[in-house]
Amino acid sequence: MFQNRAVLIKVGSLLYRNASIRDLNGIKQCAQLYSSKSGETKLLTQLTQRIKTVGPITVADYMKEVLTNPVAGYYMSKDVFGSSGDFTTSPEISQMFGELLAVWVIYEWTQLGSPEKLQVVELGPGRGTLADDMLRVFKQLQHVAKDAVSLHLVEVSPKMSAMQEAKLTGAATSEGSDAETNPNMDGIPYRTAISQTGVPVSWYTHISQVPKGFSCFIAHEFFDALPVHKFQKTDKGWREVMVDIDEGDGPHHLRFVLAPGPTIASKVFTKDNEKRDHVEICPQAGVITQEMAARIEEDGGMGLIVDYGHDGTKTDTIRGFKKHALHDVLSEPGTADLTADVDFSYIREMVQQSVCTFGPVNQNLFLQQMGIETRLKKLLTTQPEQHKELISGYRMLMDPEQMGQRFKMFSLMPKNRADGSPYNPAGFAIT
Ligand code: SAH
Repeated sequence: MFQNRAVLIKVGSLLYRNASIRDLNGIKQCAQLYSSKSGETKLLTQLTQRIKTVGPITVADYMKEVLTNPVAGYYMSKDVFGSSGDFTTSPEISQMFGELLAVWVIYEWTQLGSPEKLQVVELGPGRGTLADDMLRVFKQLQHVAKDAVSLHLVEVSPKMSAMQEAKLTGAATSEGSDAETNPNMDGIPYRTAISQTGVPVSWYTHISQVPKGFSCFIAHEFFDALPVHKFQKTDKGWREVMVDIDEGDGPHHLRFVLAPGPTIASKVFTKDNEKRDHVEICPQAGVITQEMAARIEEDGGMGLIVDYGHDGTKTDTIRGFKKHALHDVLSEPGTADLTADVDFSYIREMVQQSVCTFGPVNQNLFLQQMGIETRLKKLLTTQPEQHKELISGYRMLMDPEQMGQRFKMFSLMPKNRADGSPYNPAGFAIT
């Protein structure tokens, strides 16, 4: 049952995306708006044309284009993970991560009365590794979950969805897979398959397309990839940060500027009583978590969000990654990852009318409460040849200086339990 991630662990310089935030804070406080020399990319040409026509664009528009532009977006056409990619993530580091999340899902589902059907909905599944590890556990727990589980993946990238299908159906080989890399994305679902473990899998571009029904929503390093607006407090009030061409130094520069007056977003999203002088707001995170919450309220279910983030305290967190190193946000758009810390206080505010929320709690606390030590011991016994990789994977997930405290867990649970008692989701007890 061990997935060989040895190659990955051995590459000591692999970077996860919250690794260097301290370095970054010194580099670019947004108050000092800066410009950047950009290598000419297909996307830079498109963006330059657009800015010349309509004027400076919002940071959210810029981030959306950089990450998910259908032709040249970062996620749309290549595998960005692992040693040959730009960064790595917890499910890619150790199988224990997905296994413990699967135990959480099944445990909470039983706590909610084991409804006949359980839709597991994963947002932004990347290579499909987390889903694959979870399905293996669901199969082992078949005596509990029987045929309840179906898997629903929300993914905008044709390339990633092909990788996910290959992984989940067992078709992934070193030569690639037969999965269609350019499916017609108009269908709902736009792709379907049966997993190696016999679970039906369907793909959608948006959470709103997932069928109604009791669901567990999982989002691992998904919300940090959604576009943020940036606002700066000035003597004249809040002003939105925009992306413009830096005419001063040729056509290959982009720069951050401040909008001269209020924008629609600065009017809607900023608050007069805000104490910080710079904020990032991710409206799409609000829309998606509200959809989750409404579904949990109507059909039952729960949500688990795992990401790096803060509780409404941080300011300028947007950053770029390329080849396991920090990369200038405005440089070579489309060739590097862009990410921003998740503001859990904003998500809580968006959903608290409809559901109860728990967290954020540190990843190491959650994994410890879910029994990672017991799982590690078991794997060390059954897979002694993987000793070194298992221990280094465990350390990376748990060490406070690595991912243990930088990554947080946040959960959404239904408001009303039949007997009126409060929920206590597993893994969220504060000791
Ligand atoms: N959860 C995975 C991958 C994280 S990277 C892991 O932790 O390893 C972000 C993932 O979200 C990628 O699969 C990317 O293609 C997808 N994605 C990015 N923006 C999206 C959007 N707006 N809607 C759906 N999926 C998106």
